[in-house]
Amino acid sequence: MAEGDTIHRTARALEAALARKTISDVEAPSPRSPLRRQGHRVDQLRGSRLERAEARGKHLLLHFDGGLVLHSHLGMRGSWRISSGATRRDRRAWVVLSAGGAQATERNGSHLELRTESEVRSDPRLRSLGPDVLAGDFDAATGVAALRGADQSRQLGEVLLDQRVLAGIGNIYKSEACWSARTDPWLPLSELGDEDLRRLVIEVAGLMRYGVEIGRQPHSIYRRSGMPCPRCGTPISSRGQGDANRTTYWCESCQGADAPQRGIIGA
Ligand SMILES: [Zn+2]
Repeated sequence: MAEGDTIHRTARALEAALARKTISDVEAPSPRSPLRRQGHRVDQLRGSRLERAEARGKHLLLHFDGGLVLHSHLGMRGSWRISSGATRRDRRAWVVLSAGGAQATERNGSHLELRTESEVRSDPRLRSLGPDVLAGDFDAATGVAALRGADQSRQLGEVLLDQRVLAGIGNIYKSEACWSARTDPWLPLSELGDEDLRRLVIEVAGLMRYGVEIGRQPHSIYRRSGMPCPRCGTPISSRGQGDANRTTYWCESCQGADAPQRGIIGA
């Protein structure tokens, strides 16, 4: 599943493969591609050049010199792939961008649209995004302020997935960061001190930055229900959380108020 780290990595890769090369072709092979309804803009995109690829939380924005922006959100099932040389036509692709012998192919997702810069600027979903955990200027104070700005009666694990509070965190990093920070994801924010939130924010940003660099997400406890906690050996618990009922994984012994004193055991 694509979380902020994957999107930032994808932005880097797309920029490396396509930037400043002329887009020689744009195809939308899948009948399900939303770009099939945007024929005029697809035509406009041919012959333009990618200026920059930008990740904002889980949104990817490809800015082209002709003034168009390809806005994608991968949702639960979407993906981008970059290839070079002759490749077989991917009939399920929503879009294939060809430039200088490279092809960037996108499949599925929750959103794909060619927009103008001003449409992107006024997009309510983009405007409502909280600070991006992977932005260059993101720091712990920014993260703590964002969490304190949310409804304090909400549970930490649910708030971490709310892109209007912090952008980029998905279900894997939610569970993994709470575990790394030894924080109970079921506590309401009101029961967590600033120092707890600060530690959590530092963990989530650190794990996600590492994910961008190495291209792999942490799996200490995610989808390891019933297996021993790598820190204390207690079986990992899992349960749906929040309105969306997204599964949260956690260790009942070493995360939370009753946990052994922090810093003594393990990392
Ligand atoms: Zn544990």
